Formats: sequence, structure tokens, C-alpha cells
Amino acid sequence: MRLDDLDLRELFEFDPKGGVMRFAGDRALILDAIALGLLRRTLIESVGSDATRGIFTRFGYAHGHRTAVTMKHAFPWDSEADWRVAGGRLHMMQGLVVPAPVESVSRGSKPFVENLWHDSYEAEQHLIHLGRSEEAVCWSLCGFASGYLSYAHDREIVCIELRCRGRGDAVCHMVGRPREEWTDDHAGAITYFDMSKLDAALDQVTRKVRLAERKLRSRRQQLASYRAEIDETTGSAAASPAMQKLLDLARRVAKVDSTVLVTGESGVGKERIAHMIHERSSRAHRPLVAINCGALPESLLESELFGHIKGSFTGATQDRPGLFEEASGGSLFLDEIGEVTPALQVRLLRTLQEQEVRRVGENRNRSVDVRVIAATNRNLEDEVVAGRFRQDLYYRLRVIELPVPALRERREDILPLARILLASAAQRTKSKVTSFTPAAVELLQVYHWPGNVRELENAIERATVLATGTRIGVHDLPSEIGSNVATAFIPGDTRSLADVEREYILAVLDAHQGNRAKAAKQLAISSATLYRKLAAFRVTRG
Ligand code: ZN
Repeated sequence: MRLDDLDLRELFEFDPKGGVMRFAGDRALILDAIALGLLRRTLIESVGSDATRGIFTRFGYAHGHRTAVTMKHAFPWDSEADWRVAGGRLHMMQGLVVPAPVESVSRGSKPFVENLWHDSYEAEQHLIHLGRSEEAVCWSLCGFASGYLSYAHDREIVCIELRCRGRGDAVCHMVGRPREEWTDDHAGAITYFDMSKLDAALDQVTRKVRLAERKLRSRRQQLASYRAEIDETTGSAAASPAMQKLLDLARRVAKVDSTVLVTGESGVGKERIAHMIHERSSRAHRPLVAINCGALPESLLESELFGHIKGSFTGATQDRPGLFEEASGGSLFLDEIGEVTPALQVRLLRTLQEQEVRRVGENRNRSVDVRVIAATNRNLEDEVVAGRFRQDLYYRLRVIELPVPALRERREDILPLARILLASAAQRTKSKVTSFTPAAVELLQVYHWPGNVRELENAIERATVLATGTRIGVHDLPSEIGSNVATAFIPGDTRSLADVEREYILAVLDAHQGNRAKAAKQLAISSATLYRKLAAFRVTRG
């Protein structure tokens, strides 16, 4: 048999119904390139680029070596020369590269083998997952060529890339030479072929894995110590009576199919409550579809909610079901329901009453089975009085109302929440920060949090990034939370004398880095008085 007789259809045995597949008689697997790309990225992130390169090179080498052994015995070859070069052909047949012969452009003595690789899967995956590299990246491909040729010629042939698409070249250019013919210029690339290099890499891997496991353990312990404070239904802190009462109500409401209106200031976590209700309902196996009614103009919101038919307006190129139909069997979360225009309020009311929708431009009704959970940060009762919100729709929506308390109304949850948010922000940003300084805790607890949990989350994420040590200090927190508090009157200022006193005391405390003795001295009050005031700030509305 000659090289040109190689035929993928003969090499590759498989049953179209599935089961074991074989390539040249050996068991083979189909792995998509993306999976290998992800493996590469994961390895690089966990053990570093150097160790990963060693692993991929040796993996490719072993694959090439093994393939050469198989190929040698798989067919009655006409000549030794045919199977010795078959490796390159297989490379192409397996979809790894598109090779092309090359007019030698490498300097020095004529190479043992030289190839151009178009469309190297390895360069492509490296670019997708890791971006452009400083060095050549087709590590397993070079390993494969080296492994194959070394076995086929019974001498050590080392293949390396002089150009590579992974580092921005137009094409990958591979050159193979007997190991002793490579000059010191390429010593760096060649060391990856050393078995000892792999051993060192694996050693390094083991050490890093152990370190990562230790870190993970300590992170788990840290989280476990907060677990007592985490509410299992919301994954958040809810120790306060106000929040406990709300969650209890939400759990009971989840079981029935009534429409629910979740109210509360911006950032209190209304969507989280909606998710919790859906997940604990009999509709949990179907989707919860969410939309922010305040984010879309009327006509767009109408077609989003109710769907449309082809040609009903410019740009409606095909029939499309709306979110009511999409959520059928499940729940529909209508956030910022207070922003819906009067015309749409009428349509919503009809849909809720009749459990039917009519797509824009269509004459027939379609029945839907949807539980609606609506949310608003407006006081809908006031909106009804002002004539901006239909009373009948209001009553229809608030069959059950769940008012989510503002963060300042449940101060005992602030610190537990802050700790949970810190642990997750630290993990996300790979930060070493683990706690707060006492002064920072003080500020977090007395601040009035107009933006609620969302504001707290943002403040902590920011502080986690800014903190230089292992603790978040007052200077890492956004200025409005403590430092630089303006005590002068600003037109439009609605602060009471108590507010100003509180802010001034906190600003002084902050200026002394939380040192109460120094702050008390400057304020000309006793430490006991300061202590009492701080304690009072914690329980009164900010
Ligand atoms: Zn390459």
C-alpha cells in the first residue's frame, strides 16, 4: 500500500448507531476542539503556561509515537518511506491541520522535515480562549510530529515552529531536525520534549493542586462559618424579624397560584424573591421569564409581551410568540410594572382576567397558563390616586403583596450580608481580603443605604479590589458611606439635626481611623457618650 492509498473511510470504523469507534484499529474518541481549548485554558490557569506547554508537548509526542507504531503494522506498506511520512497525512485526516509543502525558508542546514500548517486547530483554540501569545502555541501538534518521526526513523527528531498563527503569523511553519542539529537558539523550545521537564512540570502541578486544595478548604471553612447566617431559600442573609416574616409569607404564597406584587425600594432584591417564589411553586419545572417593563418603549414592550404576526409593523419579518406564551406553564416576572403606559395596562388587565393573549396584528386569542409576579419600587396606591395607574389592574396584581424591607430597616442583616458578599467578591476577583476593620464595620452598619443590597454589593466589590491588605478599611469604602461627609447646608438638603450629628460624628471617627478615644477627645465628649451614640445609630433609621 502507498501513502496516497490512505483513505479516511477505511481507517475510521464506526457504527452509525453509535458505540466504539476505531481509527486504524485503535479505539478513538470524538472530542470537539472547544473542549480541548477549554482544557488548555484550565491547565494554564491552574498550573501556568510553562507546565501546560510541557504537558501538551508530551501528550502530542505520545500520540504521535503511538500512531506510528499502529500505522507501521496496520497495512502492508509498499515501502518504508510511505509509512514514515504517513503521520503528516494523518494529521490532516484527523482534522488537526491543513498541511502544505514548503519551499525551505529556514536558515542553516536543510531540515529533516518542514511543513506549513494552515488552520491549525491548536492555534485557533489558543486564540479563542487565551488570545494572542508571545510564542508559538501548536505544542501538541509539534509533539505529534516529533513522536511520529522519532519512532519512524529510530532517531530523535524534534519539531518546533518557527512561525505560528497563535502569535500572529499568517501561517504555522514547522521545522523538524535531529535533536543534535538544533542550535542553542532553540534550546528553550526543545526542553519541553525532555521527560525530566515533564516530571518537573507534573511536580509543579501536584504542588499547585495541593495549594489550591488548601485554599479551597479555607474558603469553605470561611463560608461554613457564615452558613448559619445564610438563608437557604434566598442564599442571602435574612436573620432580621422583618426579613424572616417576608420569607415566611413568600414560602406560603409560592404554593398557590395567585398573582403576587413584590414592592420595595430599588436594590432590595425583588427579583430574588420572585425567583424564590417560582422555584418553590408547582411551576418550577417550567421557566421563569423576566422582563423589565421600564426598559422598553411602549410598542416594543407590547410586542415583547404579547408577540406579533408577520407584517404587523415594519421589521416584523416573521410571526413571533410573546413572553406570555413563552412563559406558559411557568411564571412571568414583570419588573417595574409601575412604568407601564395606560394603553398597555388595559391589555395586561385583560390578559390576566381572561388568561388569553392576542398577538399584535392578529384577530384570534390564544390561551396561556401563566403565573404573574410583578414588582415595583413605586407606591402604586399613590399612582392610582394620581391617575397614572389603573385601580382595577392594581387590585388584580396585588392579590398578595410582598413588601421587601429596605436594608436600613433590617440593620442586623447588614454585617452578615456584607460578609457573604465579601466572601463571594473575594473569590470572584481572586482577592486576599477576608474581613473588615472595626471602623469599616461601624460605617457599614450606620449608613442609610439608599441603594439597598445592590449598593452594598457594589461597595463591597469595589472595596475588595481597592483594599491593599487582608481587611477592608474605611478608605476602601465609597466616600458617601463615611468619609468626606458634608456637614455644611446644601440647598435642597433635607437632613435633620440628628442626621447631621450622626454624619459629623462618623466623619470624625473616620478621620481618626476608627479610634474612639481620639474621636471622643476631638468631639469633647466622653468615650462612654460616643459609645452610646454609636450604638443608637445602629438601631435608628439612618
Ligand atoms: Zn502554530
